[in-house]
Amino acid sequence: MSFAKEVKNELTQMQTEDCCTLACSYGLLLFSRAFSVSEISLLTEHSGVASLYCDAVALLSGYVADLQETPGGYSQVSVRDRQQRINIFEKLGLPVQSPRKQINLANLQNECCFGAFLRGAFLACGTVTDPTKDYHLEFSIPSAGLCEQFIKLFDEFDLSPRTTRRNGVSVVYFKNSTDIEDILAHMGASDTYMEFIGAKVIKDIRNQVNRKCNFENANAKRAVASAGAQRDAILYIQEKRGLDSLPKQLRELAQVRLDNPELSTAALLPLLSESLTKSGLHHRMKKIEQFAEELKNRSENEN
Ligand SMILES: [Zn+2]
Repeated sequence: MSFAKEVKNELTQMQTEDCCTLACSYGLLLFSRAFSVSEISLLTEHSGVASLYCDAVALLSGYVADLQETPGGYSQVSVRDRQQRINIFEKLGLPVQSPRKQINLANLQNECCFGAFLRGAFLACGTVTDPTKDYHLEFSIPSAGLCEQFIKLFDEFDLSPRTTRRNGVSVVYFKNSTDIEDILAHMGASDTYMEFIGAKVIKDIRNQVNRKCNFENANAKRAVASAGAQRDAILYIQEKRGLDSLPKQLRELAQVRLDNPELSTAALLPLLSESLTKSGLHHRMKKIEQFAEELKNRSENEN
């Protein structure tokens, strides 16, 4: 099941106070496909949302709505009777003309009702991406005028959504995981909120582990590469001049390196007869490589 569906399942099964039921019903109707005197309707994939919409219509108009299944597996709910539609506007204190122009805040009676209104809007036109994949929550707003009103409402929650247009529809969206957590919490989706936080924690830990592994892999690769280069230089000296051509201090180090190809440079330290610092060791190893380099240059010039 998609994460968005889980969230909607949870939101449609909530028990709420009467004030919040009104606010949620208002959000659900206002943000659905059509909301005017000539048409009030919803088209949804989610049967729980369809049945909540029917409850909202019954609450606001006193009559049942018409619910049909489309061949594509969607639920379509319509308020067929004009008088029934007018009843809904009257009940919500909205003008019969352009009822979407202004959000009537009188329907959000108490502080708790803002979250309930948001819940209705999300059920009608929202979706959220699985947090293990990406952080994204959006509302596809069915009317441009409504979009501006809706964005202002987020001031109540100290949230600043981003907006874009997609296929002629205004989209209000959030990409910040903390904003999405806030919205889930305000809507009352406590189970899916916890799931979201859990997924985020796992993702953060995984990223940290990956960063650490990448860092360690890079270090290991570097150590193998430099051990290989040192060995090549020493073998070259051995072939051209013999290791005896090296000064005594360097000769021992060269032999230890040849005998221990798998060790990092620093790991050769305890194998040496005299005690050296790490930088002293690196300095000697550099000298060996320079010695090989000079031999190479000389032999190229002679040829
Ligand atoms: Zn309330």
